[in-house]
Amino acid sequence: MDEVTGAQLIAESLKAQKVDYMFGIVGVPIIEVAMAAQAAGIRYVGMRNEQAACYAASAVGYITGRPGACLVVSGPGLIHALGGMANANMNCWPVVVIGGSSDRNQETAGAFQEFPQAVRTSIYGRPGACYVDIAGDMVNAKVERSKVSCCPPPPVSLADQGSVTEAISVLKAAKTPLVIIGKGAAYGRAETVLRELIEMSGLPFLPTPMGKGVLPDDHANCVAAARSRALLQADVILLFGARLNWMLHFGLSPRFNPNVKIIQVDLCAEEMGNNVRPAVALLGDISAVATQALALQSTVPLNYYTVFHHISQLLPHDCIIVSEGANTMDIGRTMLNNYLPRHRLDAGTFGTMGVGLGFAIAAAAVEASQNTGRRVVCVEGDSAFGFSGMEVETMCRYSLPVVVIVVNNNGIYSGVDSETWKAMKQMGELTSVAPPVSLLPDARYDEVMKAFGGRGLLVRTVEELRSALQLSLSDWERPSLINVLIDPSSDRKQQVTTTVRSTCL
Ligand code: ADP
Ligand code: MG
Repeated sequence: MDEVTGAQLIAESLKAQKVDYMFGIVGVPIIEVAMAAQAAGIRYVGMRNEQAACYAASAVGYITGRPGACLVVSGPGLIHALGGMANANMNCWPVVVIGGSSDRNQETAGAFQEFPQAVRTSIYGRPGACYVDIAGDMVNAKVERSKVSCCPPPPVSLADQGSVTEAISVLKAAKTPLVIIGKGAAYGRAETVLRELIEMSGLPFLPTPMGKGVLPDDHANCVAAARSRALLQADVILLFGARLNWMLHFGLSPRFNPNVKIIQVDLCAEEMGNNVRPAVALLGDISAVATQALALQSTVPLNYYTVFHHISQLLPHDCIIVSEGANTMDIGRTMLNNYLPRHRLDAGTFGTMGVGLGFAIAAAAVEASQNTGRRVVCVEGDSAFGFSGMEVETMCRYSLPVVVIVVNNNGIYSGVDSETWKAMKQMGELTSVAPPVSLLPDARYDEVMKAFGGRGLLVRTVEELRSALQLSLSDWERPSLINVLIDPSSDRKQQVTTTVRSTCL
């Protein structure tokens, strides 16, 4: 028989559960537990008070996602640890507290076999503290070694798909939306997908104190510097892993807009509706729910933010960016970075539209003669392109490999879709009914480039955009025009940052 002591069994079980750190203060009967833990490869940190030990163990749980262990003696040891357990519970951080108690013949028998479940209850569902009580005589009693298998990471739950769709439409209708990122998002390791969501949607975000760093504080969309204003002005708030408690002023007026619509994302159903009834409750893991939202977003027509997010990922840092248009130039300026001087040419002091293709031809001619290997990329709104569109013939004639991207929203500022256009035709003379800002829906500017022998590409999706841009950037022989059809109602999201920045200027 493969025998171990109770203490060894505890230590080996903890190790099997990927509990790698133990904090505590030893005394009878748990000294052997600490020694066995070290022997099993667990780092043991002897502290001076059980409260601090429990704070430390729970912080390990938050940082690593596997609970830290806190080892205490019975009675006062456990009572001191209670402060740490309460703090862990309130923070939703996992911790396993192990307390030694008196021998079993002095009390009712403890349920030792429940031990492996302790780790599971601390990390499944809403994370928090759990407590295991070990009878003193079990520490040195010999038992048969039993194998504890590591409890797998918590099962991931998705939000109801209908609710995700509803959340997206609430967000699309928002005028001043705001994303709040809490420490639940940090614990849930949601940084990658939240960054994708923020950058594709252009939404401003505000971190809570421990939500800081999920996305960098110096991210262009971070509105932490204007926290009060952001909270007050938001008409829709997408809440990721933060509670509307005192830290967020309970989500109530006067710190919040009294009519604010909250889209609440949390894995704890009981949290939904605390203090404010959410417009949409998305019950599930933050990474999973944000991925659901992203997937839905990529099925709807492209918007400016999505387009610029992907363009900015693919453009070489030393390219010369020529840009003009209304929304195209404004949003593009914030999302397409420049890294070198004299590498951006736009509508300039006079706000002139129609300068872009001429500027691009000049830059490409200089590049061709100096042979510096820099690309000229011309990012045009559809109306801006129209002013000098025929210059694509010049580009083709001289084989200037300019990449022209037309961000096409069917109009000046904004346009209408082809269905609406057809319906307007039925209503009467287009010259009487068509909005003066509208241009021909889905106009094939790409065909204009093709007519002269350049490359013309029509794109409607993220995948098409990425492959079209990569293909165009790899071609040094001739110019390309990528006609990107976006949602004609796609518009600039009002952002508190805009106001703040312009006041700073
Ligand atoms: P903050 O202090 O940043 O406002 P809170 O502690 O108030 O954060 O809120 C964190 C919330 O995150 C809790 O309601 C918790 O249930 C939730 N949470 C923790 N992990 C996840 C996860 N992976 N997915 C979704 N919600 C989570
Ligand atoms: Mg336009």
